[in-house]
Amino acid sequence: MHIYQLMQQELDLLQAQGNLRALNRMQHEGRYIASGQEKLLNLASNDYLGIAADIALRQEFLDTLDVRHFVPSASASRLMTGNFPVFEELEHELAGLYHREAALLFDCGYHANTGILPAIARRDTLILADKLVHASLIDGIKLAGVPYYRYRHNDMQHLEKLLQQHAGAYDNLIIVTESLFSMDGDEAPLARLVSLKERYPHVLLYLDEAHAFGVRGARGLGCAEEADCIPSIDFLVGTLGKAAASAGAFVVCNRLSRDFLINKVRPFIYTTALPPVVVAWSLFVIRRLGGMADRRRRLAFLSEKVHQALISRGRKDLSTSHIIPLLVGESDRTVTQAGEMRRRGIHALPVRPPTVPEGSARIRISLRADLTDEEINHLIDNL
Ligand SMILES: *Cc1c(COP(=O)(O)O)cnc(C)c1O
Repeated sequence: MHIYQLMQQELDLLQAQGNLRALNRMQHEGRYIASGQEKLLNLASNDYLGIAADIALRQEFLDTLDVRHFVPSASASRLMTGNFPVFEELEHELAGLYHREAALLFDCGYHANTGILPAIARRDTLILADKLVHASLIDGIKLAGVPYYRYRHNDMQHLEKLLQQHAGAYDNLIIVTESLFSMDGDEAPLARLVSLKERYPHVLLYLDEAHAFGVRGARGLGCAEEADCIPSIDFLVGTLGKAAASAGAFVVCNRLSRDFLINKVRPFIYTTALPPVVVAWSLFVIRRLGGMADRRRRLAFLSEKVHQALISRGRKDLSTSHIIPLLVGESDRTVTQAGEMRRRGIHALPVRPPTVPEGSARIRISLRADLTDEEINHLIDNL
């Protein structure tokens, strides 16, 4: 069959399963999305602190720029001529915040995860990853081309068993997990992970804080800050496109690792560096993150309110964060229910396979700190 015919067949199949994806055009107005006549509250973005919707903050940043400092392109990889001073300023800032030796920026979290894991995995490495890690981590593990096991989600007994079974047979092991899981909104038991890891000198811990950076911890550094275990995380990845309302990603690690990654990570070497103006905005935001504890408290308060409402209605609520999945099951029904919420002015997206396991389609609500009391009550009335 011709490849175009095969493509059509696969699209038809996705359509029949209710899993066909398409792009929707979005007009953003702060925390609202305008779509035709409708104005929908945006509970599907990752702008958890409302920074992306904060016009005053954006204006403040623009006021720091003049045409010389507005550099829209790095015009090269950082290893060529793209290493503008602002990159190292941001890395220095991040390393300082985490009290670690070094930080390294990437164009995005997908690049970080698909680049770092293949670089650091050696021929005698075993990777142990949580069953529910993000697609970018799965792709990184596959690209690494080394043996791996997926342990049951957040199941430390399973992980410990795998460690006992295999630690002797490999020179190096890497445990890979998210801190706050993007689809379930629950958290990895960091203290237990760290204590497990520390029993084995040849086990490294790789932690993806994409949904926790900015949001958790007293200074917004993530779950590892909250659990007071930053020094025990060998590779701590944060992304800048979510709560930090910018673009890019970083890893904090030791100096040796940074030097190594600069030489070995293909999505670092073979890609144009981020636009310097974007990095300047990231730096601008990150310098203010520590002072945004009021936004973090508001988000925690709103999350607690929604969790309580769900529990009081007898719903099973697995989330412990601002990411709240409403499990439905079948894709079709999930899409219908998301449409129902939409009619009530709430934009929350159905998440379907293959993003989540078969039969666990859900509506995923991402709360945001800039919701008013009225808006959160409206949401609770329409859950
Ligand atoms: C969003 C996300 C990424 C990818 O980050 P981008 O900067 O958007 O490429 C990586 N890991 C997790 C857990 C994520 O949720």
